[in-house]
Amino acid sequence: MIPLEQHRQTILDAVRALPSRPCASADALGLVLAEPVCSAVDLPVFTNSSMDGYAVHSADVATTPTSLPVRGDIRAGDTTTYEVLPGETRRIMTGAPMPAGADAVVQVEHTDGGTETVEIERSAVAGVHVRVQGEDLRAGDQVVEAGIRVQPHQLAAIVGAGVATVAVVPRPRVAVITTGDELVPTGEPLQHGQIHESNGPMLAALATADDATVVAVEHLRDDADLAATVERLAQEADLVMTSGGVSAGAYEPVKNAYADGGAVSFVKVAMQPGKPQGFGLVGDGVPLLALPGNPVSSLVSYLSFVRPALRVLAGRSPQQPRLTARVVDGWKSAPGRMQLARVRLGRDDDGLTMTASGASGSHVLGGLATAHAIAYVPIDVLEVRPGDVLDLELLPGESIP
Ligand code: AMP
Ligand code: MG
Repeated sequence: MIPLEQHRQTILDAVRALPSRPCASADALGLVLAEPVCSAVDLPVFTNSSMDGYAVHSADVATTPTSLPVRGDIRAGDTTTYEVLPGETRRIMTGAPMPAGADAVVQVEHTDGGTETVEIERSAVAGVHVRVQGEDLRAGDQVVEAGIRVQPHQLAAIVGAGVATVAVVPRPRVAVITTGDELVPTGEPLQHGQIHESNGPMLAALATADDATVVAVEHLRDDADLAATVERLAQEADLVMTSGGVSAGAYEPVKNAYADGGAVSFVKVAMQPGKPQGFGLVGDGVPLLALPGNPVSSLVSYLSFVRPALRVLAGRSPQQPRLTARVVDGWKSAPGRMQLARVRLGRDDDGLTMTASGASGSHVLGGLATAHAIAYVPIDVLEVRPGDVLDLELLPGESIP
């Protein structure tokens, strides 16, 4: 058996970020920036008022109360260039350009709100309520660094900085192939010996949750020509994953398709569940990750191998962020294998806690649905004890309690 990290490294050594392409900034949500984004303009673009009030020469309002004649209004969006002479003022709105001459804004709440003459009740020193051109960013300054997956707050900064197009790494396209004569799509009646096919929907949903585009989910019978399907889907996908058919049974379509030293190699990984794994490059160098069929095995295999590969294809670092939590009730772990345990998270006075979620079998879907995260039990641990602290990875869509 090879360590989990070794199999992951074999896969990561074979994948590269997809070539970048230009993208309208407004459509970049969830995509990874291939290049840093630099501001096209100064921010603020022009010196403007941060308050509704009166633009003044601060020297004129050094002693208050005082009154000043109001020469008119400056509204947000007014493109005229105004000047305020000493001894006078203009009403100004938030975001409106400061008139030449004025160096401060008295907020309307500190005045009588007059439109012909205004009574100023409080003084304002130079610079008060004035947002100066370029004080946030200068044209050419970096707004967001490369490698960032664009979130709404970064999107705001990018478009606000006047950058209409950014270089992004496209979403990886993913194809899923499920195998097994016993599998029936949900919604169709089951005959004796048949079960509902759940890995196809699960793996497609995992890839979607990880910002990939699922281009195909196909089911094959155990005697179908698997390699031909793989080659066809490798034409339209950046990564292909298969489910099932990689273990030691007599009818293992994925393993058999590449039996004679083909493009895909099969290994036993020291993890539990998820021991039988396959990996190779198919088509024009497209990674094929062959995952075991038991639903929980498929899930932890996805998290351990597919997810890091998708992250790299998408221009990100391979490692999904991890957390730690303290075990409340212990459980047993398999000797010589890293256990990937489904856990529920909680919180007490000492921080994040975890308990096992359901029974440990790799077929147990009920315990999967109630889990929040996968905990990593190191290879040399035979018994997880209360108080132990373990690394964990949140399942997609789950958050820290
Ligand atoms: P296999 O890896 O093909 O030997 O399958 C191992 C176990 O997982 C068997 O009990 C299968 O019935 C089950 N299984 C395989 N593929 C799926 C699937 N797509 N959905 C649900 N269960 C599956
Ligand atoms: Mg099978």
